[in-house]
Amino acid sequence: MLMNLVDGEWVNGAHALRDINPSDTADVVGEYAVASSSQIEDAKNAARHAFPAWSRTTAQVRADILNNAATELFARRAELGELLSREEGKTLPEGVGEVVRASQVVRFFAGEAVRLRGEYLPSVRPGVEIEVTREPLGLIGVITPWNFPIAIAAWKIAPALAFGNCVLFKPSESTPALGWALIDIFVRAGVPKGVVSLLMGDGASVGAGIIDAVDALSFTGSVATGKRIAQQATRGMIRIQLEMGGKNPLIVLDDADISVAVEAAVNGAFIQTGQRCTASSRLIVTKNIHDRFVTAVRDRLKVLRVDHALKSGTNIGPVIDQRQLDKNFKYLASGESEGAVRTGGERLERETQGFYMAPALFTETTNSMRINREEIFGPIAAVIRVDDYDEALAVANDTEFGLCAGICTTSLKHARHFQRNVEAGLTMVNLATAGLDYHVPFGGRKASSYGPREQGSYAAEFYTVVKTSYVSA
Ligand code: NAD
Repeated sequence: MLMNLVDGEWVNGAHALRDINPSDTADVVGEYAVASSSQIEDAKNAARHAFPAWSRTTAQVRADILNNAATELFARRAELGELLSREEGKTLPEGVGEVVRASQVVRFFAGEAVRLRGEYLPSVRPGVEIEVTREPLGLIGVITPWNFPIAIAAWKIAPALAFGNCVLFKPSESTPALGWALIDIFVRAGVPKGVVSLLMGDGASVGAGIIDAVDALSFTGSVATGKRIAQQATRGMIRIQLEMGGKNPLIVLDDADISVAVEAAVNGAFIQTGQRCTASSRLIVTKNIHDRFVTAVRDRLKVLRVDHALKSGTNIGPVIDQRQLDKNFKYLASGESEGAVRTGGERLERETQGFYMAPALFTETTNSMRINREEIFGPIAAVIRVDDYDEALAVANDTEFGLCAGICTTSLKHARHFQRNVEAGLTMVNLATAGLDYHVPFGGRKASSYGPREQGSYAAEFYTVVKTSYVSA
């Protein structure tokens, strides 16, 4: 049984829930305790008690703790990567890769702890000097989704700790094991009692309870949940950072290198079962390359193996659960009912009972179809044929989302124009829309994001408060 961590103690919960392997529903990854409302209260009080001493530790103390955690994460990448694949359904190399990424993120923020910058400015008044410094914010709530169960938790909790904050953390109810492992590692790395608490369970009770307990909340998940959280957070007047969904366009122009474009599209749309907020779900293709591109993508999809995430040779693992599988099929039906042409998307049977489906490609679609307006979050992409670059850019921007946008072209003029004019927080030229570095800011525009950026040195914007100090020397 995986227990919650409250005030430095591992404690049982109100009741237990099961963590199921999506590649094999007979495989119970584990049982985990669901936090009670009194445990949320206890965790909050413990953090309030721990904060004064923790926030005054030296940057070196916090850097050492984060470095210890990064070292253990890296050393255990094979074991934790396997657990991740078993719990979430991404392939084993992807699972191991995500644990390595978590370790890199934690080590990066160990460095950020000692690099926290301020400013010195002359005053406009004689004899006065001004310092602008950053201080820890207090108690941060961290609520994460299931699709990157350790990397996202790491890139929120590590900066929170690096800058001297306390944390109440709730991983997704679908993937608690990696969140649990991360907190267990932080404890062993030396995080003092009460500074971090782990509170597992569902969003409506445990998640909502955390929001009422904290000074700031960093959330990643769907737009619908983000909007609900924003309303609750506004009532409590707490600071929020929301990273949400996407409907990311990948433009392919006539002058693109076709092999680069196909690689970017297949990787961006289907790898990790398409369950990435940055997945390329709208492939916007100009008319002269359209047919060659579609044929090449279909050929690639035929050779991708969908199977148990831990099997060697698997390219695409299962969908996370029955609910998401039903949702995917609902969108396949919706696309067809609106006149789109589908290849792939069949329900697949494998040796074990899992949530397997073939990747699906829609063609003959328009940007107004539901499959092109709403985030599906599965291995489904739609091709939209356009006349030229200008139409492609207009279609790319015609969406409520604005996370990542890509273009495949050999034209510097179009690439640079696209980077400057596409409405997205992240842009890619001749690259998949998914797949990012950890030392630079991450986030979107429009409905995809709300609040300051995550990651890189920009993380300090959210995890610290600014103080402006005047002194007459
Ligand atoms: P979700 O919104 O259903 O849940 C995310 C988290 O919020 C979970 O921990 C859940 O328990 C919690 N939650 C749900 N209701 C809550 C409430 N009322 N109060 C507090 N917490 C609540 O999302 P999901 O299905 O876990 O993840 C998929 C979504 O996440 C997709 O939309 C995807 O695009 C998005 N995502 C975004 C990014 C990004 O950085 N932009 C990264 C990964 C995933």
